[in-house]
Amino acid sequence: MSGDLLAAITAAIVRLRGADPMLPVSVLVPNHVLGTQLARALFASTGQIAIEFLLPHEFAWKCAARQALAEGLLPVPDQVDVAIAMDCAERVATALETPAYLKEAARMAGFPPAALRSIRDLQAADVPLGALVAAAPHAPDPEKLHVLARLAEDYARTLDAAHLLERESLYSRAAALQPGADSGPVIVIGDISASSGLERLLGRVKQTRPFAWLVEERGFVGERHLQRRTELQARSGLLAEPVAPVASRKSSLSRLHRDLFTDSGCTKPQPLDGSVRILSAAGESLECVEIARLIRDEARRGVRFQEMAVLLRQPSAYAPHLASAFDRAGIDAFFLEGVPRVDPAARALSLYLDLLDGDLDRSPVLEFLTTAQVPYRSFLPADARISPARWDRISAKAGIVSGIETWRINLGKAVESAEEGDYAADEVPLINALRQVIDRLEMSLSAFPQEGSWREFLDATVAALEAWITRSALTAERLSRVLSPMERFAPAPTRRQFISRAQDLLASQVYREGDLADGRVFVGSVDVAQGLQFKVVFVPGLVERRFPSIVRPDPLLLDEERVLLSDGLETTGERQEQERVRFARACAAAGESLVLSYPRIDAQGGRERVPSSFLLRAASAATGRRVSAEDLRRMAAAGETSLGRPYPQTADTAIDGLERDLALVASGVKGAARHLIDDAPTIARALQAERSAWAKDLTAYDGVVNLKPWPAFAARLRLHGRSVSATRIEAFGACPYRHLLSAGLGLREWEEPERAYVLTGRDRGSVIHAVLDTLFKELKDAKQLPIEAGTLARVKSRAATLLDQALATLVSDGGVVHRALLNGPRDAMRVDLDTMLEKEAKDDSGFVPHAMEVEFEGVSIAFAAGRSLSVHGWIDRLDVNRRTRQVRVIDYKTGWNDWKAEDQFRGGQSVQLAIYVRAAEQAYPKLTVAESRYYFCTSKQRFACKGIEGTPETTATLNSVLTTLDDIAEQGVFAPVADACGFCDFKGICGPHRERRAAHKADDPRLAAFHRMREIV
Ligand code: SF4
Repeated sequence: MSGDLLAAITAAIVRLRGADPMLPVSVLVPNHVLGTQLARALFASTGQIAIEFLLPHEFAWKCAARQALAEGLLPVPDQVDVAIAMDCAERVATALETPAYLKEAARMAGFPPAALRSIRDLQAADVPLGALVAAAPHAPDPEKLHVLARLAEDYARTLDAAHLLERESLYSRAAALQPGADSGPVIVIGDISASSGLERLLGRVKQTRPFAWLVEERGFVGERHLQRRTELQARSGLLAEPVAPVASRKSSLSRLHRDLFTDSGCTKPQPLDGSVRILSAAGESLECVEIARLIRDEARRGVRFQEMAVLLRQPSAYAPHLASAFDRAGIDAFFLEGVPRVDPAARALSLYLDLLDGDLDRSPVLEFLTTAQVPYRSFLPADARISPARWDRISAKAGIVSGIETWRINLGKAVESAEEGDYAADEVPLINALRQVIDRLEMSLSAFPQEGSWREFLDATVAALEAWITRSALTAERLSRVLSPMERFAPAPTRRQFISRAQDLLASQVYREGDLADGRVFVGSVDVAQGLQFKVVFVPGLVERRFPSIVRPDPLLLDEERVLLSDGLETTGERQEQERVRFARACAAAGESLVLSYPRIDAQGGRERVPSSFLLRAASAATGRRVSAEDLRRMAAAGETSLGRPYPQTADTAIDGLERDLALVASGVKGAARHLIDDAPTIARALQAERSAWAKDLTAYDGVVNLKPWPAFAARLRLHGRSVSATRIEAFGACPYRHLLSAGLGLREWEEPERAYVLTGRDRGSVIHAVLDTLFKELKDAKQLPIEAGTLARVKSRAATLLDQALATLVSDGGVVHRALLNGPRDAMRVDLDTMLEKEAKDDSGFVPHAMEVEFEGVSIAFAAGRSLSVHGWIDRLDVNRRTRQVRVIDYKTGWNDWKAEDQFRGGQSVQLAIYVRAAEQAYPKLTVAESRYYFCTSKQRFACKGIEGTPETTATLNSVLTTLDDIAEQGVFAPVADACGFCDFKGICGPHRERRAAHKADDPRLAAFHRMREIV
């Protein structure tokens, strides 16, 4: 704090003590930070003792405690008032007389705290509840005032029943008990907050004890603020003694202190002299990095950490950035509001509480199991396999969405299918362990009470915490400390109310390190700046809407209603003026140097930020001339970093090793960053990969692999000697690198099962396939093929029934959330089926469906001399023409027809039809394969067909494609050709610019055969 204030307090103490230097003195301070600083400074500089620094309500309790305790009364404990307000809001929401729109409002999470603020304002302004009712007919929303009056009455009644004293009553009691037992002098520092009770107490203190009221006048205090102080003095007889600093016009800082928010400084323009600095940075995070850099500079100049402060308008928004920057720069700091560091146990418990209202939804369950440090060994057998990460993959693969039954059934099926090879052998013990974990979790969640008292809910929460989360003592202690008093004072909560309060506490768990002034930079809210003083002060975040922040009207007590009720109720305009007062106090806290800063860009939204009008006013006051936004941009130092350059110009000014290394690399000086490569071979490889990516030749970084040392792996990538599906060959033909990633390394896209609210394309295809398969099999068994005009109506009707059955199965299997969602697609599918069957009935080609859903396996294709593969798969339908002794293959398609008229093999990417020809040849050795065709069996695709004939040319082209691909695999050239990435799952691996990089390497001779293959239509 300033020396002027200290001197004034010392003089007041000496004066008020008179002849008795040991008379206890109570000094009432606006906040504990000032109290702590004053206590230390007073003792160090004057040796005065027996002085107690108290907040006004602490002083009131000191006066009234004995009598209150004798009556069984206590002050309202922390959080209990909110819990009571929540309970009252619940009654408002269910009361018959509450209008519907206010019932809805009362159920919102923000309503109880807002109502509590309004009630406190009414109490502080001494507004009787009857006045609310009386004012209602003249208010814009009479119903709202009635509801507020009922709620305030309910709140007061509940407090009475719990024997709790709210603050205004406490002040009044303390006033009635003056002079207190000690009767020592009382000194008030700073402004007296708006409270009729406090005003009465201090008025009474002044009459009965030695009394002084000291107000430090440094710069702007606000007109309305001054007016209220004058009115208070006139009403209560309290007289403020101004403590004015010694006037100085020499520095930019003193001009700023004097002229901020006045126009008197605009006469003698002066440049900034260094006592005021303006800083801008790309975003909040870099702004904090630059502040850390300046703090280190100041420390090098000899300023001690405890002589510096960062004052924040919104500590919660800046504290994490500052904490991170200070950690990096090795700066010790004391965060008054704490640093919101994530406590893993608190976060895990919050996730557990989220599960209480769910239905064991897979995603949150796995988030809990993978995030929480669960003591699995305490309840699973010693040999159980535990891996939350693999449980995540297994449960996703098992298609679990939610519900204990689904978990049990699908995990059971997973164990069964593991025997068929769907899961790796070592996954069975993992699945069994997961089954036990889920059963236990379900029991634990079911045991959580549906209703109960605060104690019962708290006990259940702590029990769950101890059962499911390790290292949870701190979280359990905090929950118990804050929520235990509720049992005694607050009405029983609903389960939702309890969970909401507990989760609020868990989310706001903050940590404070160290102590004020023990060699740490002070970081705190501008709200505590009154009276404080540091050598160097930083005020970051000076952009519009943040500082000044937007003050919104009280929704429960609008300004006009406040004016109607009492002069003592603050309006929005007055609260907006408080923003100026806050800023002036923050600036006044700077004794030698002030750094005002702002982020130029909203780092999340990418929008440019508008510098605060306060910053412009401060710059104008400091320079004595009008400063525009453009001037400000020129005046502001840009800092050492920017969005595109998160490191300083030179390594000397780096705040940590990361900045230093980046600066050294960017310097371009040969060998400057050699230590990076020496220390980490991965960096050398990364640099090599980056260079190779843009080189003209294919390298090991482009999927060129020497497979000789790994013959088994090489065999897996070849076609020769393998049994493969047509789909796998097509993926190879689309991109050799894709083949390496999927067939070689076994990578595949993560599939997250989820609730489906629409019918997906894949589901639509499965349903149509299932219907047609069953229908044609039935018709064949009944010898009713081909379909004829006379039987068409019956066939259509049967198809409709089968469609309904297939859709019902889809819903019961959890593929779609509700049957009603399928009504639209069902009608469209039925029209498609009808049309398709009509076309079948008119088909005079002579082909008759002969076999449906035909599995083929071991179809051998000798594609080159000494080289062959075998293919497997399914054919939807085989039709036979007995007259011509031909067979044709039908493959149903329900998706998009992107085939052009001339397309056949599409550069080696489409071999399925040609492979079906070979499969049909082997299935019907005595017949000729006429054609293999895709049948786009939907109205949208106009029932188009795309076919390939079973000719020697087809066989030759297929062999040529297979030979090219097998050659590539044999040579180990799995290049990312990047000309068909559209539906590839590996775009994230290949990254951006893959097409440009591939184009660079297109002339590599090792790809010549592949590019020739691309020319096949
Ligand atoms: S993203 Fe493109 S280049 Fe990469 S593997 Fe897939 S198809 Fe090949």
